[in-house]
Amino acid sequence: MIDLRSDTVTKPTRAMLEVMGEAETGDDVYGEDPTVNALERFAAALTGKEAAVFAPTGTQSNLLGLLSHCGRGHEYIVGHTAHTYMYEGGGAAVLGGIQPCPLPFAADGSLPLDAVEKAIKPDDAHFAITRLVCLENTQAGKVLPLDYLQRYSELTRQWGLKRHLDGARLFNAAVALDVPVAQICQYFDTVSICLSKGLACPVGSLLVGDEDAIRSARRWRKMLGGGMRQAGILAAAGLYALENNVQRLREDHDKARRVADALASLPAFTLQAAPQTNMVMLDAATDVESLARHLESDGIRTAGTRWVFHQDVSDDDVDRLIESCRRFR
Ligand SMILES: *Cc1c(COP(=O)(O)O)cnc(C)c1O
Repeated sequence: MIDLRSDTVTKPTRAMLEVMGEAETGDDVYGEDPTVNALERFAAALTGKEAAVFAPTGTQSNLLGLLSHCGRGHEYIVGHTAHTYMYEGGGAAVLGGIQPCPLPFAADGSLPLDAVEKAIKPDDAHFAITRLVCLENTQAGKVLPLDYLQRYSELTRQWGLKRHLDGARLFNAAVALDVPVAQICQYFDTVSICLSKGLACPVGSLLVGDEDAIRSARRWRKMLGGGMRQAGILAAAGLYALENNVQRLREDHDKARRVADALASLPAFTLQAAPQTNMVMLDAATDVESLARHLESDGIRTAGTRWVFHQDVSDDDVDRLIESCRRFR
């Protein structure tokens, strides 16, 4: 089965399983797992931050970021379809008493800064206290331009607001821009990173930021039940991925582009836009149900209008997908 539902479906390779099996471990709640400590140090250095904390999921590392900056009665500005707002069970509100202020994403995945500025609440007892502006990069496969991040950073500084990036696919953005991840991370106080998407780990996420934010995040992580013990087995996969799988993401971007190019000549298909990273986004008007049935009968599993390319989709699989699309009317 070719599975295009998400890049979360990747399975650990034999090489990754080997380093996991050989990982040195200790009790990470005591801070004694050498492999977790090495991963956290490596991630902090890579992103240009003081510190990092390893978490089981991206949902948790986003929550740790929000909880480390915001408290009860605070508000965070966020995209209306952002993962933290839409797909994390309302955790910031439920567990942190943090009110979301959702704004529509622009077509390029950014939050328009004039709208952000208008949404910042005055210091008035009627209002929640605006505390943070959260961005997502990549956002639905789109890469936020660095000059936009610069302007976002200036605006949030000017208003004294915290800046969190949901960087579940941060490395896809960095590879697409051909810049070091630190160049993106410099505009944020905290950044969450997923190891279990295109980087192809079975489990794992990181939150990076300054010492204070990460100390607070570590406390919240324990409270949320994310304090793992011999987590070095998982951290070893993360280290392996950061050392070996980042440049490989280019191949996923190439696969998405190859599919988009082939679909351009097929009248049954319209794309939302040319892919910038590892996602092909079909037009919302696509009859996804009959398309999904057609593809499924050719051994290709999809969900909705988003096709995600990853390590476990081979070049032959891409050929098979294109061939199947040609037969779809
Ligand atoms: C996958 C993802 C997350 C985190 O998801 P988990 O399944 O909890 O690891 C966060 N943000 C975005 C944009 C994602 O795609």
